[in-house]
This record gives sequence, structure tokens and C-alpha cells, in this order.
Amino acid sequence: SQPIMAGKRGLVMGVANDRSIAWGIAAQAHAHGAELAFTYQGEALAKRVKPLAESVGSDIVLQCDVTDDASVDAVFAALEEKWGKIDFVIHAIAYADKEELKGRYVDTSREGFLRSLDISCYSFTAIAQRAVPLMNEGGSLLTLTYYGAEQVMPHYNVMGVAKAALESSVRYLAADLGSEGIRVNAISAGPIKTLAASGIGDFRHILKWNEYNSPLRQNVSIEQVGGAGLYLLSDLSSGVTGEIHHVDSGYHVVGMMAVDAAPQ
Ligand code: NAD
Repeated sequence: SQPIMAGKRGLVMGVANDRSIAWGIAAQAHAHGAELAFTYQGEALAKRVKPLAESVGSDIVLQCDVTDDASVDAVFAALEEKWGKIDFVIHAIAYADKEELKGRYVDTSREGFLRSLDISCYSFTAIAQRAVPLMNEGGSLLTLTYYGAEQVMPHYNVMGVAKAALESSVRYLAADLGSEGIRVNAISAGPIKTLAASGIGDFRHILKWNEYNSPLRQNVSIEQVGGAGLYLLSDLSSGVTGEIHHVDSGYHVVGMMAVDAAPQ
């Protein structure tokens, strides 16, 4: 039988290095037959992303800063020229100024708020606007979110507010695009040590807490997020849209763990 992603072409946005969640999903999509294109944020990341793209047989590697409409336009114009149609987009992009990821949410600046919401939330809608005209029936848009959207997590601050807006936009986009056969979903990943996560205060403590307090007693890997990504990008999830799918070792279902539950 055919690999489940055979004949599907997709754009991967948000690879910074081989620890990126976007890379974990891209690797799984490639392993199951997808053809991939990649974007990278700035020239400093080009030297990391190009070899990774090459290792999965991709020669479409484009610069894109989502705060610049012209650069987003250029990416989809290039894809239209190369491929004509696309089947999926992985959006794994978020940003908050370092000063906003420590201390209290109440101290968030207007500038920091707008920048974080622009890059971490609006960019997914901007990308959907450009992707949809190129999408085949059965198209899939996927973004990444975190539990800090639902519950207060230490130092997540404005990112939590941005992720709440992103999760809501997943539902509105799903409703808008469903009649065109396009699905829109998010994965809510547990904490993973990536470049972006290194900006969050006390991140090591958050990792330990999740390991001790999740039903599976472990932190998730980018391979595990990749497995769920594969499902949401493929026709296996053809009946699923508007969903926030948790890949967090079950952390989000726990109210309180038993006293003796922590690993010894
Ligand atoms: P990462 O640092 O590997 O990826 C973040 C990416 O965002 C980078 O590739 C960066 O270049 C890109 N980016 C930031 N600003 C941009 C801009 N203006 N234009 C274009 N690209 C821009 O970290 P990651 O943890 O893999 O993050 C990917 C996604 O996963 C993010 O949305 C993040 O919030 C989410 N997430 C991460 C965790 C975690 O613990 N690491 C948990 C849940 C959700």
C-alpha cells in the first residue's frame, strides 16, 4: 500500500534547528512520503535549515519573516510557481520579547503585547489567507499551541494570551474553511527544550514539574509531537477540524497527583 502522505506537498514554517518542533513534524511527514518546502526566519538560520531541508530531499527553502507581508506573499508566489497546488502548512512560529517572559503578566507593555500577538497569532491567519487559494481539497493547516493558553503557567505571560487567541483563531478558521474541504487544527505540546523555550524563565523547573505530574511521567519528544502532526496533516484525520489536540503526556487532565506519585 502507498505511504499515507504519498502525493502530498506541504510547507514547513518554523524550523530553527534539529530540536525544533516543526522539524519533528516535518521528519515524520517526510518518512511517510510527503514532499516538503521550508521557510526560515533570517539569514542567520539559513545555514541550519538548508542542510536539514536537503536531508529530506527538499530544494525549496525560502526566507520568511511573518511580520513582513511582502515576504509572506513571496513564499506563496514561489510555491505556486514551483508546485501549483499545496496540501498542508505547518505553522510553528511564536515570539515574545524576553522581558515579557519573566515577572508578571500585568506589566506587559503595549508594544510587547502587539508584537507577540502579531507573530504568534495573526501570522497563522495571514498564512491561511495565502495558502487557501493554493490548497487542494483535503488541505490541512496545523499550528502549535501550549497549555498556558488555558491555565496560568509561570512566566508564560503574554504568550499565554497570544496562544489563547491562536486557539480561538483555529476554531474560526476551521468554520470559515470547512466548506472548501480545508481543515484547521492545533497541537498543544507539552514543554520541550527548544530555542524558543529557552527564553522562558525557570523552564527547567517547568520540565521537571510536567515530568512528575503527568500521567505518563515523562516529557514529550519532538518525535511524539511529529506522530500527532502526521495524523492531523494526513487523511487519517479527515473528520477532524477546529481541534486542539494535546500531546503532553496527559498533563492537562490532572487536577492533582497523589502524594506518592512523583518518581523516586
Ligand atoms: P523554535 O525556536 O525551534 O521555533 C520557533 C520558530 O519561530 C523559529 O524557527 C523562529 O525562527 C520562528 N519565528 C519567530 N519569529 C518569527 C518571525 N517574525 N517570522 C518567522 N518566523 C519566526 O521553538 P519551538 O519550541 O519548536 O516552537 C515552535 C512552536 O511550538 C511555537 O509556536 C511554540 O510556541 C510552540 N510550542 C512550544 C513548546 C515548547 O515547550 N517548546 C510547547 C508548546 C508549543
